[in-house]
Amino acid sequence: MAEWKNRRVSILGVGRSGVATAAYLAARGAQVLVSESQPKEKVKPDLLASLEKLTSGKTSVECEFGGHTERAVSWPEIIITSPGIPPRADVIVRARSLRKEVISDVELAYRETRGDADTKPLPIIAITGTNGKSTTTSLISYILEFAGRNAPACGNIGVPVLSLLDGKPDFLVMEVSSYQLEYAPTFAPHIGVWLNLTPDHVDWHGNLDAYIEAKRSMFKHQSLSDYAVLNMDDSVVASTINAGEFFPFSVLGECERAIQSAYMQDGFFCANFGSRSRVVCHESEVKIIGKHNQENCLAAISAALLAGLSEKEIKAGLTTFTALEHRLEYVATIDGVPYYNDSKATNTDSTIKALESFPNNKVVLIAGGKDKGTSLNELVQVVKRYASGVILIGEARERFERALRNGGFNDVYPVATLEEAVNLGGKLKKGPVLLSPACASFDMFKDFEDRGRAFKELVHSRTR
Ligand code: ADP
Repeated sequence: MAEWKNRRVSILGVGRSGVATAAYLAARGAQVLVSESQPKEKVKPDLLASLEKLTSGKTSVECEFGGHTERAVSWPEIIITSPGIPPRADVIVRARSLRKEVISDVELAYRETRGDADTKPLPIIAITGTNGKSTTTSLISYILEFAGRNAPACGNIGVPVLSLLDGKPDFLVMEVSSYQLEYAPTFAPHIGVWLNLTPDHVDWHGNLDAYIEAKRSMFKHQSLSDYAVLNMDDSVVASTINAGEFFPFSVLGECERAIQSAYMQDGFFCANFGSRSRVVCHESEVKIIGKHNQENCLAAISAALLAGLSEKEIKAGLTTFTALEHRLEYVATIDGVPYYNDSKATNTDSTIKALESFPNNKVVLIAGGKDKGTSLNELVQVVKRYASGVILIGEARERFERALRNGGFNDVYPVATLEEAVNLGGKLKKGPVLLSPACASFDMFKDFEDRGRAFKELVHSRTR
Protein backbone atom coordinates (compact mmCIF):
# COMPACT_ATOMS: atom_id res chain seq x y z
CA MET A 1 0.00 0.00 0.00
CA ALA A 2 1.42 3.37 -1.01
CA GLU A 3 2.09 6.25 1.37
CA TRP A 4 -0.31 9.04 0.38
CA LYS A 5 0.33 11.67 3.04
CA ASN A 6 0.73 15.09 1.36
CA ARG A 7 1.00 13.58 -2.11
CA ARG A 8 -0.65 15.69 -4.80
CA VAL A 9 -3.32 13.88 -6.83
CA SER A 10 -5.70 15.13 -9.53
CA ILE A 11 -8.87 13.19 -10.20
CA LEU A 12 -10.42 13.77 -13.62
CA GLY A 13 -14.19 13.37 -13.78
CA VAL A 14 -16.84 13.48 -11.07
CA GLY A 15 -18.51 10.10 -11.35
CA ARG A 16 -19.16 7.61 -8.59
CA SER A 17 -15.65 6.21 -8.96
CA GLY A 18 -14.08 9.70 -8.97
CA VAL A 19 -15.80 10.60 -5.71
CA ALA A 20 -14.86 7.26 -4.10
CA THR A 21 -11.24 7.76 -5.21
CA ALA A 22 -11.20 11.27 -3.69
CA ALA A 23 -12.59 9.92 -0.39
CA TYR A 24 -10.11 7.05 -0.30
CA LEU A 25 -7.05 9.21 -0.97
CA ALA A 26 -8.15 12.13 1.22
CA ALA A 27 -8.66 9.76 4.15
CA ARG A 28 -5.00 8.76 3.75
CA GLY A 29 -3.76 12.34 3.83
CA ALA A 30 -3.34 13.10 0.12
CA GLN A 31 -3.96 16.57 -1.30
CA VAL A 32 -6.69 16.04 -3.86
CA LEU A 33 -7.95 18.21 -6.72
CA VAL A 34 -11.14 16.91 -8.38
CA SER A 35 -11.52 18.37 -11.88
CA GLU A 36 -14.73 18.10 -13.91
CA SER A 37 -15.28 19.32 -17.49
CA GLN A 38 -19.05 19.82 -17.02
CA PRO A 39 -20.44 22.87 -15.24
CA LYS A 40 -21.43 22.29 -11.62
CA GLU A 41 -25.19 22.42 -12.42
CA LYS A 42 -24.85 19.36 -14.64
CA VAL A 43 -23.30 17.14 -11.95
CA LYS A 44 -25.67 14.73 -10.19
CA PRO A 45 -26.84 16.19 -6.85
CA ASP A 46 -25.92 13.10 -4.79
CA LEU A 47 -22.34 13.22 -6.12
CA LEU A 48 -22.12 16.96 -5.40
CA ALA A 49 -23.36 16.35 -1.86
CA SER A 50 -20.66 13.69 -1.28
CA LEU A 51 -18.01 16.03 -2.68
CA GLU A 52 -19.18 18.88 -0.48
CA LYS A 53 -18.79 16.65 2.57
CA LEU A 54 -15.21 15.97 1.54
CA THR A 55 -14.31 19.60 0.80
CA SER A 56 -15.85 20.89 4.02
CA GLY A 57 -14.19 18.24 6.21
CA LYS A 58 -10.72 18.13 7.68
CA THR A 59 -9.23 16.53 4.59
CA SER A 60 -7.55 18.40 1.75
CA VAL A 61 -9.95 18.18 -1.20
CA GLU A 62 -10.62 20.96 -3.74
CA CYS A 63 -12.93 20.88 -6.77
CA GLU A 64 -13.11 22.68 -10.09
CA PHE A 65 -15.94 22.53 -12.63
CA GLY A 66 -16.53 23.59 -16.23
CA GLY A 67 -13.15 22.48 -17.61
CA HIS A 68 -9.76 21.04 -16.65
CA THR A 69 -7.40 23.90 -15.79
CA GLU A 70 -3.67 23.86 -16.49
CA ARG A 71 -3.13 23.33 -12.76
CA ALA A 72 -5.15 20.09 -12.75
CA VAL A 73 -2.61 18.71 -15.20
CA SER A 74 0.69 20.28 -14.12
CA TRP A 75 0.34 20.32 -10.29
CA PRO A 76 -0.25 16.63 -9.38
CA GLU A 77 2.30 13.85 -8.95
CA ILE A 78 -0.24 11.37 -10.32
CA ILE A 79 -3.58 11.63 -12.15
CA ILE A 80 -6.50 9.24 -11.66
CA THR A 81 -8.84 9.54 -14.61
CA SER A 82 -12.44 8.54 -15.14
CA PRO A 83 -12.61 5.79 -17.78
CA GLY A 84 -15.09 8.03 -19.62
CA ILE A 85 -12.24 10.25 -20.90
CA PRO A 86 -10.61 8.77 -24.03
CA PRO A 87 -6.80 8.72 -24.41
CA ARG A 88 -7.04 11.21 -27.29
CA ALA A 89 -8.81 13.83 -25.14
CA ASP A 90 -6.88 17.06 -24.83
CA VAL A 91 -6.48 16.75 -21.05
CA ILE A 92 -4.88 13.28 -21.30
CA VAL A 93 -2.59 14.32 -24.15
CA ARG A 94 -1.49 17.38 -22.11
CA ALA A 95 -0.86 15.26 -19.01
CA ARG A 96 1.16 12.70 -20.92
CA SER A 97 3.23 15.36 -22.65
CA LEU A 98 4.22 16.51 -19.15
CA ARG A 99 5.16 12.88 -18.33
CA LYS A 100 2.46 12.58 -15.69
CA GLU A 101 1.31 9.11 -14.80
CA VAL A 102 -2.38 8.69 -15.71
CA ILE A 103 -4.18 5.63 -14.29
CA SER A 104 -7.74 4.43 -13.57
CA ASP A 105 -9.21 3.51 -10.18
CA VAL A 106 -8.86 -0.17 -11.17
CA GLU A 107 -5.07 0.23 -11.40
CA LEU A 108 -4.99 2.21 -8.15
CA ALA A 109 -7.03 -0.47 -6.32
CA TYR A 110 -4.73 -3.15 -7.69
CA ARG A 111 -1.61 -1.35 -6.44
CA GLU A 112 -3.22 -0.70 -3.07
CA THR A 113 -4.03 -4.37 -2.50
CA ARG A 114 -0.67 -5.98 -3.29
CA GLY A 115 0.05 -6.57 0.40
CA ASP A 116 3.26 -6.01 2.33
CA ALA A 117 5.38 -7.70 4.98
CA ASP A 118 2.30 -8.15 7.23
CA THR A 119 -0.56 -8.61 4.78
CA LYS A 120 -1.16 -10.91 1.82
CA PRO A 121 -2.29 -9.54 -1.55
CA LEU A 122 -6.07 -9.37 -1.92
CA PRO A 123 -7.12 -11.78 -4.71
CA ILE A 124 -8.89 -10.03 -7.57
CA ILE A 125 -11.22 -11.83 -9.96
CA ALA A 126 -11.60 -9.59 -13.02
CA ILE A 127 -14.19 -10.13 -15.73
CA THR A 128 -14.03 -8.52 -19.15
CA GLY A 129 -15.67 -9.00 -22.56
CA THR A 130 -17.92 -7.15 -24.96
CA ASN A 131 -21.12 -8.78 -23.63
CA GLY A 132 -22.07 -10.59 -20.44
CA LYS A 133 -19.72 -8.79 -18.03
CA SER A 134 -22.36 -7.66 -15.53
CA THR A 135 -24.16 -11.01 -15.51
CA THR A 136 -20.95 -12.99 -14.99
CA THR A 137 -19.56 -10.59 -12.39
CA SER A 138 -22.80 -10.77 -10.38
CA LEU A 139 -22.93 -14.54 -10.76
CA ILE A 140 -19.37 -15.10 -9.53
CA SER A 141 -19.90 -12.76 -6.60
CA TYR A 142 -23.22 -14.48 -5.80
CA ILE A 143 -21.72 -18.00 -5.88
CA LEU A 144 -18.80 -17.01 -3.64
CA GLU A 145 -21.03 -15.14 -1.17
CA PHE A 146 -23.56 -18.00 -1.12
CA ALA A 147 -20.64 -20.19 -0.02
CA GLY A 148 -19.83 -17.77 2.80
CA ARG A 149 -17.00 -15.72 1.29
CA ASN A 150 -16.97 -11.93 1.41
CA ALA A 151 -16.69 -11.28 -2.34
CA PRO A 152 -18.51 -8.12 -3.43
CA ALA A 153 -19.12 -7.28 -7.09
CA CYS A 154 -17.55 -3.98 -8.08
CA GLY A 155 -15.97 -1.90 -10.84
CA ASN A 156 -17.82 -1.08 -14.02
CA ILE A 157 -20.97 -2.69 -12.58
CA GLY A 158 -21.58 0.46 -10.52
CA VAL A 159 -19.86 -0.06 -7.16
CA PRO A 160 -16.49 1.76 -7.06
CA VAL A 161 -13.79 -0.69 -6.07
CA LEU A 162 -12.04 1.79 -3.76
CA SER A 163 -15.19 2.09 -1.64
CA LEU A 164 -14.81 -1.59 -0.66
CA LEU A 165 -11.19 -1.85 0.46
CA ASP A 166 -11.80 -0.79 4.06
CA GLY A 167 -14.33 -3.67 4.39
CA LYS A 168 -11.46 -6.19 4.05
CA PRO A 169 -13.16 -8.56 1.56
CA ASP A 170 -11.82 -12.08 0.85
CA PHE A 171 -12.03 -11.41 -2.91
CA LEU A 172 -12.83 -8.49 -5.15
CA VAL A 173 -15.02 -9.56 -8.07
CA MET A 174 -14.43 -6.78 -10.54
CA GLU A 175 -16.15 -6.01 -13.83
CA VAL A 176 -13.56 -4.25 -15.95
CA SER A 177 -14.24 -2.40 -19.18
CA SER A 178 -11.69 -1.89 -21.92
CA TYR A 179 -11.75 1.80 -20.97
CA GLN A 180 -10.53 1.05 -17.45
CA LEU A 181 -7.91 -1.37 -18.78
CA GLU A 182 -6.52 1.27 -21.13
CA TYR A 183 -5.44 3.14 -17.98
CA ALA A 184 -4.28 0.06 -16.02
CA PRO A 185 -0.71 -0.60 -17.17
CA THR A 186 0.32 -3.14 -14.50
CA PHE A 187 -3.07 -4.60 -13.52
CA ALA A 188 -2.82 -8.41 -13.22
CA PRO A 189 -5.79 -10.09 -11.54
CA HIS A 190 -5.28 -13.40 -9.75
CA ILE A 191 -8.12 -14.78 -11.88
CA GLY A 192 -8.77 -12.99 -15.19
CA VAL A 193 -11.88 -13.95 -17.17
CA TRP A 194 -12.45 -12.94 -20.81
CA LEU A 195 -15.87 -13.80 -22.21
CA ASN A 196 -15.92 -12.64 -25.83
CA LEU A 197 -15.04 -9.89 -28.24
CA THR A 198 -17.14 -8.21 -30.90
CA PRO A 199 -16.23 -4.85 -32.42
CA ASP A 200 -17.69 -2.22 -30.10
CA HIS A 201 -16.31 0.94 -28.54
CA VAL A 202 -13.84 1.13 -31.41
CA ASP A 203 -14.30 4.90 -31.68
CA TRP A 204 -13.19 5.37 -28.09
CA HIS A 205 -9.97 3.37 -28.48
CA GLY A 206 -9.16 4.72 -31.95
CA ASN A 207 -9.14 1.34 -33.74
CA LEU A 208 -10.02 -2.34 -33.28
CA ASP A 209 -6.45 -3.43 -32.50
CA ALA A 210 -6.24 -0.93 -29.65
CA TYR A 211 -9.54 -2.28 -28.28
CA ILE A 212 -8.25 -5.88 -28.42
CA GLU A 213 -4.90 -4.87 -26.90
CA ALA A 214 -6.65 -3.12 -24.00
CA LYS A 215 -8.53 -6.34 -23.20
CA ARG A 216 -5.42 -8.50 -23.62
CA SER A 217 -3.32 -6.32 -21.38
CA MET A 218 -4.66 -7.78 -18.14
CA PHE A 219 -3.36 -11.24 -19.09
CA LYS A 220 0.09 -9.97 -20.05
CA HIS A 221 1.27 -9.12 -16.56
CA GLN A 222 -0.09 -12.14 -14.71
CA SER A 223 2.41 -14.42 -12.96
CA LEU A 224 2.50 -18.21 -13.00
CA SER A 225 0.36 -18.40 -9.89
CA ASP A 226 -2.44 -16.46 -11.65
CA TYR A 227 -5.10 -17.84 -14.00
CA ALA A 228 -6.38 -16.81 -17.42
CA VAL A 229 -9.95 -18.10 -17.90
CA LEU A 230 -10.58 -17.85 -21.65
CA ASN A 231 -13.52 -18.67 -23.91
CA MET A 232 -12.36 -21.16 -26.55
CA ASP A 233 -15.48 -20.51 -28.65
CA ASP A 234 -14.33 -16.96 -29.46
CA SER A 235 -11.42 -16.84 -31.89
CA VAL A 236 -9.89 -13.59 -30.64
CA VAL A 237 -10.15 -14.60 -26.97
CA ALA A 238 -8.84 -18.11 -27.70
CA SER A 239 -5.69 -16.73 -29.32
CA THR A 240 -4.70 -14.64 -26.32
CA ILE A 241 -1.18 -15.22 -25.09
CA ASN A 242 -1.28 -15.44 -21.34
CA ALA A 243 1.50 -15.37 -18.80
CA GLY A 244 -0.61 -17.03 -16.09
CA GLU A 245 -2.02 -20.56 -16.05
CA PHE A 246 -4.45 -21.29 -18.85
CA PHE A 247 -8.00 -22.33 -17.90
CA PRO A 248 -10.17 -22.69 -21.04
CA PHE A 249 -13.95 -23.02 -21.18
CA SER A 250 -16.27 -23.92 -24.05
CA VAL A 251 -20.00 -24.41 -24.55
CA LEU A 252 -19.20 -26.32 -27.76
CA GLY A 253 -17.22 -28.98 -25.90
CA GLU A 254 -13.89 -27.76 -27.31
CA CYS A 255 -11.85 -28.48 -24.20
CA GLU A 256 -13.28 -31.63 -22.58
CA ARG A 257 -9.88 -33.31 -22.65
CA ALA A 258 -7.83 -30.45 -21.21
CA ILE A 259 -6.33 -31.08 -17.76
CA GLN A 260 -8.19 -28.07 -16.44
CA SER A 261 -11.23 -26.64 -18.16
CA ALA A 262 -15.00 -26.13 -17.95
CA TYR A 263 -17.40 -27.40 -20.63
CA MET A 264 -20.89 -28.71 -21.44
CA GLN A 265 -21.45 -32.45 -21.85
CA ASP A 266 -24.91 -33.92 -22.59
CA GLY A 267 -26.54 -30.88 -21.00
CA PHE A 268 -24.37 -30.99 -17.85
CA PHE A 269 -22.00 -28.27 -16.69
CA CYS A 270 -18.68 -30.05 -16.12
CA ALA A 271 -15.13 -29.15 -15.16
CA ASN A 272 -11.74 -30.80 -15.05
CA PHE A 273 -9.66 -29.54 -12.18
CA GLY A 274 -7.27 -30.90 -9.58
CA SER A 275 -6.72 -34.12 -11.61
CA ARG A 276 -10.36 -35.17 -11.70
CA SER A 277 -13.55 -34.47 -13.69
CA ARG A 278 -16.50 -32.96 -11.87
CA VAL A 279 -20.15 -32.57 -12.76
CA VAL A 280 -21.62 -29.37 -11.31
CA CYS A 281 -25.28 -29.61 -12.35
CA HIS A 282 -27.65 -30.04 -15.31
CA GLU A 283 -28.59 -27.05 -17.48
CA SER A 284 -32.27 -27.46 -16.52
CA GLU A 285 -31.38 -26.67 -12.89
CA VAL A 286 -30.06 -23.21 -13.78
CA LYS A 287 -32.50 -20.29 -13.85
CA ILE A 288 -30.72 -18.04 -16.38
CA ILE A 289 -31.56 -19.15 -19.89
CA GLY A 290 -29.88 -19.20 -23.31
CA LYS A 291 -26.58 -20.35 -24.77
CA HIS A 292 -24.94 -17.02 -23.98
CA ASN A 293 -25.76 -17.56 -20.32
CA GLN A 294 -24.26 -21.06 -20.48
CA GLU A 295 -21.00 -19.33 -21.43
CA ASN A 296 -21.39 -17.01 -18.47
CA CYS A 297 -22.07 -20.02 -16.21
CA LEU A 298 -18.97 -21.88 -17.42
CA ALA A 299 -16.86 -18.77 -16.83
CA ALA A 300 -18.30 -18.48 -13.32
CA ILE A 301 -17.74 -22.19 -12.56
CA SER A 302 -14.10 -21.82 -13.66
CA ALA A 303 -13.52 -18.76 -11.47
CA ALA A 304 -15.26 -20.29 -8.46
CA LEU A 305 -13.24 -23.53 -8.70
CA LEU A 306 -10.03 -21.53 -8.93
CA ALA A 307 -11.14 -19.51 -5.91
CA GLY A 308 -11.24 -22.76 -3.94
CA LEU A 309 -14.94 -23.73 -3.91
CA SER A 310 -16.16 -27.33 -4.22
CA GLU A 311 -18.59 -28.34 -6.99
CA LYS A 312 -21.28 -28.70 -4.31
CA GLU A 313 -20.79 -25.12 -3.19
CA ILE A 314 -20.79 -23.92 -6.79
CA LYS A 315 -23.99 -25.80 -7.58
CA ALA A 316 -25.75 -24.21 -4.60
CA GLY A 317 -25.09 -20.71 -5.96
CA LEU A 318 -25.43 -21.48 -9.66
CA THR A 319 -28.88 -23.03 -9.33
CA THR A 320 -30.37 -20.23 -7.21
CA PHE A 321 -29.05 -17.21 -9.13
CA THR A 322 -31.75 -15.31 -11.04
CA ALA A 323 -31.27 -12.99 -14.02
CA LEU A 324 -30.26 -9.38 -13.52
CA GLU A 325 -32.98 -6.82 -14.05
CA HIS A 326 -33.72 -6.10 -17.76
CA ARG A 327 -31.61 -9.04 -19.01
CA LEU A 328 -33.96 -11.83 -20.06
CA GLU A 329 -35.63 -11.25 -16.71
CA TYR A 330 -38.71 -13.38 -16.08
CA VAL A 331 -41.55 -11.06 -15.01
CA ALA A 332 -44.72 -13.12 -14.48
CA THR A 333 -47.11 -15.59 -16.09
CA ILE A 334 -50.57 -14.17 -16.70
CA ASP A 335 -53.43 -16.18 -18.21
CA GLY A 336 -50.87 -18.85 -19.06
CA VAL A 337 -48.60 -16.39 -20.93
CA PRO A 338 -45.09 -15.87 -19.50
CA TYR A 339 -43.55 -12.40 -19.93
CA TYR A 340 -39.80 -11.64 -20.15
CA ASN A 341 -38.10 -8.26 -19.88
CA ASP A 342 -34.92 -7.95 -21.97
CA SER A 343 -34.95 -4.17 -22.27
CA LYS A 344 -31.12 -4.11 -22.07
CA ALA A 345 -31.08 -5.57 -25.61
CA THR A 346 -30.45 -2.31 -27.46
CA ASN A 347 -28.88 -3.86 -30.57
CA THR A 348 -29.80 -6.69 -32.95
CA ASP A 349 -27.06 -9.01 -31.61
CA SER A 350 -28.56 -9.02 -28.13
CA THR A 351 -32.08 -9.59 -29.48
CA ILE A 352 -30.83 -12.53 -31.54
CA LYS A 353 -29.29 -14.03 -28.37
CA ALA A 354 -32.59 -13.54 -26.55
CA LEU A 355 -34.67 -15.21 -29.31
CA GLU A 356 -32.28 -18.17 -29.45
CA SER A 357 -32.84 -18.65 -25.73
CA PHE A 358 -36.32 -20.06 -26.44
CA PRO A 359 -35.51 -23.06 -28.66
CA ASN A 360 -38.62 -25.03 -27.68
CA ASN A 361 -41.27 -22.35 -27.75
CA LYS A 362 -41.85 -19.66 -30.38
CA VAL A 363 -42.20 -16.24 -28.77
CA VAL A 364 -44.12 -13.04 -29.43
CA LEU A 365 -41.36 -10.47 -29.72
CA ILE A 366 -41.89 -6.81 -28.81
CA ALA A 367 -39.22 -4.82 -30.64
CA GLY A 368 -38.54 -1.28 -31.87
CA GLY A 369 -37.63 2.05 -30.35
CA LYS A 370 -34.96 4.48 -31.46
CA ASP A 371 -33.51 2.95 -34.60
CA LYS A 372 -29.74 2.38 -34.76
CA GLY A 373 -29.97 1.90 -38.54
CA THR A 374 -27.91 -1.32 -38.57
CA SER A 375 -28.62 -4.24 -40.91
CA LEU A 376 -31.68 -6.32 -39.99
CA ASN A 377 -30.95 -9.31 -42.26
CA GLU A 378 -29.73 -11.71 -39.58
CA LEU A 379 -32.43 -10.65 -37.13
CA VAL A 380 -35.14 -11.37 -39.72
CA GLN A 381 -33.77 -14.91 -40.25
CA VAL A 382 -33.71 -15.57 -36.50
CA VAL A 383 -37.24 -14.12 -36.09
CA LYS A 384 -38.50 -16.53 -38.75
CA ARG A 385 -37.12 -19.42 -36.73
CA TYR A 386 -37.93 -18.42 -33.17
CA ALA A 387 -40.89 -15.97 -33.24
CA SER A 388 -44.61 -16.52 -33.80
CA GLY A 389 -45.29 -12.78 -34.10
CA VAL A 390 -43.54 -9.42 -33.82
CA ILE A 391 -45.18 -6.38 -32.24
CA LEU A 392 -43.42 -3.14 -33.20
CA ILE A 393 -43.20 0.13 -31.30
CA GLY A 394 -41.33 3.43 -31.64
CA GLU A 395 -39.52 5.23 -34.42
CA ALA A 396 -38.07 2.03 -35.88
CA ARG A 397 -41.53 0.54 -36.59
CA GLU A 398 -41.67 1.15 -40.33
CA ARG A 399 -38.14 0.03 -41.19
CA PHE A 400 -38.49 -3.13 -39.08
CA GLU A 401 -41.90 -3.92 -40.61
CA ARG A 402 -40.54 -3.50 -44.13
CA ALA A 403 -37.50 -5.69 -43.43
CA LEU A 404 -39.63 -8.44 -41.86
CA ARG A 405 -42.23 -8.49 -44.64
CA ASN A 406 -39.54 -8.35 -47.36
CA GLY A 407 -37.89 -11.31 -45.66
CA GLY A 408 -41.15 -13.28 -45.81
CA PHE A 409 -42.34 -12.85 -42.21
CA ASN A 410 -45.84 -11.38 -42.10
CA ASP A 411 -47.04 -11.80 -38.50
CA VAL A 412 -46.15 -8.18 -37.80
CA TYR A 413 -48.22 -5.81 -35.64
CA PRO A 414 -47.19 -2.14 -35.46
CA VAL A 415 -48.77 -0.38 -32.44
CA ALA A 416 -48.53 3.11 -30.95
CA THR A 417 -47.57 2.46 -27.33
CA LEU A 418 -45.85 -0.09 -25.12
CA GLU A 419 -49.17 -0.55 -23.31
CA GLU A 420 -50.88 -1.61 -26.55
CA ALA A 421 -47.97 -3.94 -27.24
CA VAL A 422 -48.25 -5.68 -23.87
CA ASN A 423 -52.03 -6.05 -24.18
CA LEU A 424 -51.81 -7.40 -27.71
CA GLY A 425 -49.03 -9.82 -26.71
CA GLY A 426 -51.33 -11.22 -24.01
CA LYS A 427 -54.31 -11.50 -26.38
CA LEU A 428 -52.45 -13.20 -29.21
CA LYS A 429 -51.66 -16.22 -27.00
CA LYS A 430 -48.95 -17.31 -29.44
CA GLY A 431 -46.23 -18.07 -26.90
CA PRO A 432 -44.17 -16.23 -24.26
CA VAL A 433 -44.06 -12.44 -24.67
CA LEU A 434 -40.50 -11.14 -24.91
CA LEU A 435 -39.59 -7.45 -24.80
CA SER A 436 -36.18 -7.39 -26.53
CA PRO A 437 -36.23 -4.21 -28.59
CA ALA A 438 -32.99 -4.29 -30.67
CA CYS A 439 -33.18 -0.49 -30.42
CA ALA A 440 -32.30 2.29 -28.03
CA SER A 441 -35.11 3.64 -25.89
CA PHE A 442 -34.71 7.40 -26.12
CA ASP A 443 -37.63 8.04 -28.48
CA MET A 444 -40.17 6.98 -25.83
CA PHE A 445 -38.27 6.49 -22.54
CA LYS A 446 -35.48 8.01 -20.45
CA ASP A 447 -33.27 4.94 -20.83
CA PHE A 448 -33.47 1.14 -21.12
CA GLU A 449 -34.16 0.82 -17.40
CA ASP A 450 -37.12 3.18 -17.60
CA ARG A 451 -38.46 1.14 -20.55
CA GLY A 452 -37.99 -2.18 -18.72
CA ARG A 453 -39.69 -0.90 -15.58
CA ALA A 454 -42.63 0.45 -17.63
CA PHE A 455 -42.97 -2.96 -19.26
CA LYS A 456 -43.00 -4.77 -15.91
CA GLU A 457 -45.60 -2.34 -14.52
CA LEU A 458 -47.84 -2.96 -17.54
CA VAL A 459 -47.47 -6.73 -17.20
CA HIS A 460 -48.29 -6.65 -13.49
CA SER A 461 -51.26 -4.35 -14.11
CA ARG A 462 -52.82 -7.11 -16.23
CA THR A 463 -53.31 -9.14 -13.04
CA ARG A 464 -55.05 -6.32 -11.16
P1 ADP B 1 -22.43 -6.21 -20.20
O1 ADP B 1 -22.24 -5.86 -18.76
O2 ADP B 1 -21.15 -6.72 -20.84
O3 ADP B 1 -23.12 -5.15 -21.02
P2 ADP B 1 -24.73 -7.85 -19.46
O4 ADP B 1 -24.48 -8.99 -18.54
O5 ADP B 1 -25.33 -6.62 -18.92
O6 ADP B 1 -23.39 -7.51 -20.25
O7 ADP B 1 -25.65 -8.39 -20.66
C1 ADP B 1 -26.08 -7.49 -21.68
C2 ADP B 1 -26.70 -8.25 -22.85
O8 ADP B 1 -25.66 -8.95 -23.54
C3 ADP B 1 -27.68 -9.34 -22.43
O9 ADP B 1 -29.00 -8.86 -22.40
C4 ADP B 1 -27.52 -10.39 -23.50
O10 ADP B 1 -28.36 -10.08 -24.58
C5 ADP B 1 -26.09 -10.24 -23.96
N1 ADP B 1 -25.16 -11.24 -23.38
C6 ADP B 1 -25.02 -11.60 -22.07
N2 ADP B 1 -24.05 -12.53 -21.92
C7 ADP B 1 -23.55 -12.75 -23.17
C8 ADP B 1 -22.51 -13.60 -23.69
N3 ADP B 1 -21.77 -14.38 -22.90
N4 ADP B 1 -22.30 -13.55 -25.02
C9 ADP B 1 -23.01 -12.75 -25.84
N5 ADP B 1 -24.01 -11.94 -25.42
C10 ADP B 1 -24.27 -11.93 -24.10
